Amino acid sequence: MKRLWWDYVTVGGQVDENHREHRRVYLINVMLLFTIAVTIVFFGFHLFWTGYIYLVVINLVGFGVTLTTILYLRFSYQIERAASVLNFIAFFGLGVYLIFTHDQDQAYMWAAVYFPFAFFLKGRLIGGLYSGFFFLLIAAGTVYNMTVVDPEPTATIVRTLLNMSVSILALCGTLYYYEVTRVEATRRLNNAQARLLELSTTDGLTGLYNRRHFDDVMPVLLAKARREGTVLCFLTLDVDFFKAYNDYYGHPKGDEVLQAIADVMKGTFKRTCDLNFRLGGEEFGALFTVTNPVEAETLAEAVRAGVEALAIPSADCPLGKVTVSIGMRLYQGGSDTDKASVRDLASEADRALYQAKHKGRNRVVVYQPK
Ligand code: GH3
Ligand code: MG
Ligand code: MG
Repeated sequence: MKRLWWDYVTVGGQVDENHREHRRVYLINVMLLFTIAVTIVFFGFHLFWTGYIYLVVINLVGFGVTLTTILYLRFSYQIERAASVLNFIAFFGLGVYLIFTHDQDQAYMWAAVYFPFAFFLKGRLIGGLYSGFFFLLIAAGTVYNMTVVDPEPTATIVRTLLNMSVSILALCGTLYYYEVTRVEATRRLNNAQARLLELSTTDGLTGLYNRRHFDDVMPVLLAKARREGTVLCFLTLDVDFFKAYNDYYGHPKGDEVLQAIADVMKGTFKRTCDLNFRLGGEEFGALFTVTNPVEAETLAEAVRAGVEALAIPSADCPLGKVTVSIGMRLYQGGSDTDKASVRDLASEADRALYQAKHKGRNRVVVYQPK
């Protein structure tokens, strides 16, 4: 039962507790259910008790529209449209009710229900506009009652209209203010959430993704490549003789070098699906897909050459400038021959990097499976 309710109020889990529209959708669903219950009760009441056939029909129509809205929301996931339909149900439902029961004093109490509905469902502007129309409807009904149905002195009519206007204006003003603060609070919360996500996945110095994000996405991309049969490349890069650079120029200068290298990587792996990482101190990584292995080598070589072309002087280094060594592991998805795990890929790319260092640094080595 709990599961069924959760499924209902979250539109099949699509708008769960973390979704920004969760509260609105939850309440829309509760209101729809409430409308169903009300129409059923009044349908029975009018059919078996009062015998007003037009009210029976109105309730039946209300029931049908509400049920359709529930199903529509459940299967199409159009929150805005579902909110509009619900707003129409409330506007015309209460409007029609008031028209038919205008001669009963208590009827007008129900009118107050509409204003929070309108603001909540359609926001402060459209909701405010609908509230204005609804106010005119009630005012017209009141004037009609006080002049035609049960004539009253003009002073009484004016006083009633004045009281009604002021109270509804105060109600709508409060709702408007509430909507403004709610929207603003939601915006701030969303920004904070986005910023938090950015902070937790990126590296502060270079702006590249961090190790944590790498650990999160690598298994996902590997599974994707396996499923789709694409070639996933994992490139790992390490700065050559970087300790010596730091010792000679100082740590802040070393940090600038890391930023410059990060920029070269961003400039090379720049497609939306390419990912660049700073995996640790002076170690970088990239994950990208290619259509053939030659393309991967060309890209890796472009990074290596790009860093060399920066020509950052490095006094204690044999080449006299900052260079990088690159190890790469290509994973051919969809083939049964390659069953490597995330850990295998990382250690094999590392092995290639180690070979690049061993062969004299400033080069690219691609891991060759035996
Ligand atoms: P190799 O060519 O074999 O890679 O030699 P290396 O000196 O680069 O290798 P090693 O791993 O011994 O040194 C890594 C150095 O990277 C140590 C440290 O001074 C430097 N380093 C690590 N993280 C940072 C950082 O965040 N900023 C700076 N400026 N330097 C860092
Ligand atoms: Mg290192
Ligand atoms: Mg190094």
